[in-house]
Amino acid sequence: MRILVLSDIHANQLALEAVLEDAGSFDAAWCLGDIVGYGPDPNECVEMVRSLPGLVCVLGNHDAAITGNIDSYSFNPEARISIEWTSKTLSAKNKKFLKQVPQKSVQDDITIVHASPRDPIHEYLLDRYTATVNFAHFDTDYGFFGHTHVPTIFHLNQGYADLYLPEVDVKFDFQPRLLINPGSVGQPRDRDPRAAYALYDTDTHSWNFRRITYPVEAVQERMRAANLPEKHIVRLQDGW
Ligand code: ZN
Repeated sequence: MRILVLSDIHANQLALEAVLEDAGSFDAAWCLGDIVGYGPDPNECVEMVRSLPGLVCVLGNHDAAITGNIDSYSFNPEARISIEWTSKTLSAKNKKFLKQVPQKSVQDDITIVHASPRDPIHEYLLDRYTATVNFAHFDTDYGFFGHTHVPTIFHLNQGYADLYLPEVDVKFDFQPRLLINPGSVGQPRDRDPRAAYALYDTDTHSWNFRRITYPVEAVQERMRAANLPEKHIVRLQDGW
């Protein structure tokens, strides 16, 4: 099966459209959370994700804040403004969809979470120590995660996690055990503004990191028109 792996779309419809066009055909889509928050098109993004074939979706921290599953108090002031705007803008139907999304999903030999296996909503997997500890918190050979907005591979090697920050368009053959992040569709934070996602083949266990340009300025205009925080508008063009 060819799986489209998406994370951190963050209400960026133009980035999501560019990714779907680039991905071509796929059998299933796995969405690692944070469909909404920051961007100007939360309804469009939730509806596009809902219509993807074979959808598996887990809950992100922004999704959880908007549905009231967690308190928005834990977010910084700009993120809170964006959460309040999104909450006002999102339709009841789309909120209802987010409300039933689980925090964790296991698909064969893969555990899927937004943040980390130990803490699926909040923890950032950015360093080798935190990743090493997290390998004890799931049973499958592989774990897919998002939340950091940085394409990342952690490989458990003799009890300790090695960290790889992959180059663009790397094809990668899986070896147990791995924690792997496709990067962010709608708000990359590795100084590359292009939308990030991955294609995963369950038969050959091969993973392909992809980066795609999309019209960043058009998204920024829509964010300005919605009075969303300037910090989130500026960071799109620099990918941080
Ligand atoms: Zn996010």
